Amino acid sequence: MRKKIVAGNWKMNLNLQEGVALATELKESLAAAKPNCDVVICTPFIHLAKVADVVDGTVIGLGAENCADKEKGAYTGEVSAAQVKSTGAQYVILGHSERRQYYGETAEILKEKVNLALANGLKVIFCIGEVLEEREAGKQNEVVGSQLADSLFDLTEEQLANIILAYEPVWAIGTGKTATAEQAEDMHAFIRGVIAGRFGEVAAENISILYGGSCKPSNAKEIFSKPDVDGGLIGGAALKCADFRGIIDAWN
Ligand code: PEP
Repeated sequence: MRKKIVAGNWKMNLNLQEGVALATELKESLAAAKPNCDVVICTPFIHLAKVADVVDGTVIGLGAENCADKEKGAYTGEVSAAQVKSTGAQYVILGHSERRQYYGETAEILKEKVNLALANGLKVIFCIGEVLEEREAGKQNEVVGSQLADSLFDLTEEQLANIILAYEPVWAIGTGKTATAEQAEDMHAFIRGVIAGRFGEVAAENISILYGGSCKPSNAKEIFSKPDVDGGLIGGAALKCADFRGIIDAWN
């Protein structure tokens, strides 16, 4: 049975103290009323070790927002998958459109990152999604299909079990413009079909596919009600405990 997941992506927001305070508030909220899904927060590298202490022994999983495409060594400013793992984190987001767009992360680079993350025992939240021009040209399936094939098709079925997919139409990220629940479902069903074609029906049934892009408490329930939507990757609304909690509660 695939998991229902709500994951937060803090991006480059919150200083260390603010991050610890938000994690603590979320921990208290979830201790008071248990969630009906897995909950993960993905934070900047600088928060990981301290937030790991805060969420230790709770239902909250912890992830990084990126890791290096190299194992270790003279790569100033980079953070390796092994280093992420050593903080206590269990997840890493890879392939976010902001990394692809602003930092030139190609399918090949992402392949390396995915391999290193998995080799170091991290679960990968792998993001895919088309930009507006691609959607307007009706090319979204082609684009997303290639993103999956180019970075993930060399994995084994066993490795794929540690991948969570996040469909994030780039035109909906941080724009306030959400895909309709039908657009999300169409794409999620397509993605599941692509996974079935390469890895088989069982793998496709078991993989969680999250929706990301201006998800908020007011629209989460409708989006999550679709059969192929297994939860959300949440940016802006993950920065306020009440909003994030509101999205988590969409699973109730
Ligand atoms: C994201 O960047 O992963 C995201 C979904 O952002 P937002 O929720 O702010 O659109």
